[in-house]
Amino acid sequence: MSFENVKKQIEKALKFIQIREDIKQVLFSPERILEVSIPVKMDNGKIKVFKGFRVQYNSARGPMKGGIRFHPSVNLDEVKSLSALMTWKCAVINIPFGGAKGGVIVNPKELSEREIENLSRNYIRKIADFIGVDKDIPAPDVYTNQKIMAWMLDEYENIIRKKEPGVITGKPISIGGSKIRNISTSLGAFYVIKDAIKHLGLKNPTFAIQGFGNAGMNFARILYENGYIIVGVSDSKGGIYNEEGLNIPELIKFKKSGKSVSEYNGKRISNEELLELDVDVLAPAALGDQITIENANKIKAKYIAEIANGPTTPEADEILHKRGIFLTPDILTNSGGVLVSYFEWVQNRMGYYWDEDEIKERLKEKMKNAFEQILLISNEKKLDMRTAAYVLALKRVVEAIEARL
Ligand code: NAD
Repeated sequence: MSFENVKKQIEKALKFIQIREDIKQVLFSPERILEVSIPVKMDNGKIKVFKGFRVQYNSARGPMKGGIRFHPSVNLDEVKSLSALMTWKCAVINIPFGGAKGGVIVNPKELSEREIENLSRNYIRKIADFIGVDKDIPAPDVYTNQKIMAWMLDEYENIIRKKEPGVITGKPISIGGSKIRNISTSLGAFYVIKDAIKHLGLKNPTFAIQGFGNAGMNFARILYENGYIIVGVSDSKGGIYNEEGLNIPELIKFKKSGKSVSEYNGKRISNEELLELDVDVLAPAALGDQITIENANKIKAKYIAEIANGPTTPEADEILHKRGIFLTPDILTNSGGVLVSYFEWVQNRMGYYWDEDEIKERLKEKMKNAFEQILLISNEKKLDMRTAAYVLALKRVVEAIEARL
């Protein structure tokens, strides 16, 4: 998603908030932008330099929080956008964090494990002065995982010469990770979607999911275990469709064996076709800018649950809204990830760890509250759900900015 589009979303919501004119500019400006060059010794003995970013968008509500993405399409504009989204997301779910995001331009599928480790450790060395348990707390995002977080934490602790598990979330449980963090985005999304389905009165809804990574795969598994029917899923190589419903546990085994979901039994479809399937619920769980002015009129789903960050452009948003398609925005739907990251950070700081049920209960309660608050604003002010979520988030951020003046 472009930063221009993020600005459009902010502007749209600001019309419904009382805010001082001079404070508005703060909302459009990242606090700090880091661009780093990361030299990595490759397996062939040669040095390759990768470019990385960390954008710290706003810290009015607390230390900044956001994932690190390893992807060939990473660029500064996108990292800026994602760091702004993190700011609103932490405000929507009402945790005491600001927003940040990091990224490295790399295709990790082309690197060996040792090269990825070198890259991860070197990236942290470059940004170590600017992150910290009370400053900025990274986490995984697209094509980064628990193992990468473990290397990054280890490197950071080597630099500061003490243990500081709370500086990175989404790490393995053995070194201070939280229970259920690996499924928290998907489980949080499931709680929101269940409430939305009830609100919409959808009976036995069918699902299509774009993306079959951490978020998409776990979401599919949770839906399947709860008796819902998933007729289509996709990954970067394409998708698969079965109108009777896909056997998700089998498909997960298949995907984990290193194959693409598009090679599984069923009708092979493209990612474009997946988005246009005749289903009740469409859950984009891959990359940004998937639902655009080009395909918004062809979407047949009654409800779009944005598990990915920024999957819908503002122009597409208008079309979907006019067509009466219900949508729960990314900053609500996928906020379970950052919420359990916050729980992880709290547990690290207390040095006391909660059991699974306790975390699930807290996650469910916070997701439910956020959904209900946004729905209320949406009904009261006659706004689409995204604008309502922005109104709630921006109000909270502005309040924190003003409290410091
Ligand atoms: P991941 O790296 O685990 O998986 C990404 C998936 O997307 C893979 O299955 C990949 O094949 C697929 N993909 C890539 N390009 C695609 C394309 N063009 N079309 C279809 N599929 C494609 O990443 P993830 O952690 O699952 O993140 C997915 C989305 O969810 C991202 O937008 C991310 O920002 C968002 N998100 C994730 C979390 C989390 O905790 N994992 C939290 C909040 C938001």
